[in-house]
Amino acid sequence: MKRVMVSGGAGFLGSHLCRKLLAQGNEVVCVDNYFTGNRGNIADILSDKNFDVHRHDITFPLYVEVDEIYNLACPASPIHYQHDPVQTTKTSVMGAINMLGLAKRLRCRILQASTSEVYGDPEVHPQREDYRGLVNINGPRACYDEGKRCAETLFYDYQRQHGLGIRVARIFNTYGPRMHPKDGRVVSNFIVQALRNEPITLYGDGSQTRSFCYVDDLVDGLIRLMNVDGDVIGPVNLGNPHEISVRELAETIIELIGSRSALDFRPLPADDPRQRCPDIGRASELLHWKPRVELREGLSRTIAYFDELLAKAPAPPQSLELKVVA
Ligand code: NAD
Ligand code: UDP
Repeated sequence: MKRVMVSGGAGFLGSHLCRKLLAQGNEVVCVDNYFTGNRGNIADILSDKNFDVHRHDITFPLYVEVDEIYNLACPASPIHYQHDPVQTTKTSVMGAINMLGLAKRLRCRILQASTSEVYGDPEVHPQREDYRGLVNINGPRACYDEGKRCAETLFYDYQRQHGLGIRVARIFNTYGPRMHPKDGRVVSNFIVQALRNEPITLYGDGSQTRSFCYVDDLVDGLIRLMNVDGDVIGPVNLGNPHEISVRELAETIIELIGSRSALDFRPLPADDPRQRCPDIGRASELLHWKPRVELREGLSRTIAYFDELLAKAPAPPQSLELKVVA
């Protein structure tokens, strides 16, 4: 049995990861400041004798004794990370320094939840790990993109300078149950709007593409990456290479729900990437990993989750729109 820490463990991905690690027989220490996560996400495991929760902001040092660290703490949705951009950069950079310092003291493995956003608005398609990206240093997404890029640099330097066992997962758009219904991300927005027969807010003409990975597949990839033998040099893309346009996503969700929603075209937010699709050759070779849940199947499971959630809290959300920054 290992004692595993998950920062951001009360968030969307973190709560699934905590649950899977517990199911595998580990002790789990969840660390979260509840900025975008909440105790509801971990309500069913709070009483598990192998589960421990610390309310803590990772921009401050933390002293715990663990065997492994997954660093997931960071808001991931554009409306959340743009809400307080300075805090987003602090969480990525100072949070990484604190988590790496902890791993160095404990001589334990540490995995960083990085992101496809490090590729910015990519000119290379699909994105391989050796592509260096096209990120606007000065745009509204930079707090997140550059924060995550700097965090990666810190991870590689701790590996070279201190011989730390690091892993960096570049996660592409992931969806599933326990996404926050108001976090403004495209899958949760469209499902909530379609279930309510409200207009579907499509930014731009909807021709921009994304590749959506179901949460169970992603968590499986993270755990494989943490546990693969030996040193891992460089990042590993984790995502589903099935690429579709945002418009097609809207139409698929409308069809699966049988919704009466119409498409409502809105301005495209600044620096919104035009295309995104992972090359998962490295994950496939190194981890023998590939996503298994098809988009329609994953969407159906996610729709069932939101349907139940909305039945419990039928009041309409205040706003699901992304603030458009020129
Ligand atoms: P989320 O917002 O649901 O979860 C993030 C969690 O981190 C929340 O529980 C939040 O309260 C916590 N947190 C934020 N700042 C913190 C701080 N300073 N100290 C302690 N806790 C803090 O987001 P998610 O989708 O679960 O994403 C988890 C991680 O995966 C993030 O690092 C994100 O960048 C990365 N990621 C996610 C996706 C995706 O599609 N979901 C894609 C790429 C990368
Ligand atoms: N998007 C949209 N309508 C929404 C929310 C998002 O058209 O209500 C678009 C958004 O402009 C982007 C894509 O969907 O092109 C994915 O957005 P999300 O915020 O989920 O993730 P990211 O842009 O970080 O990939």
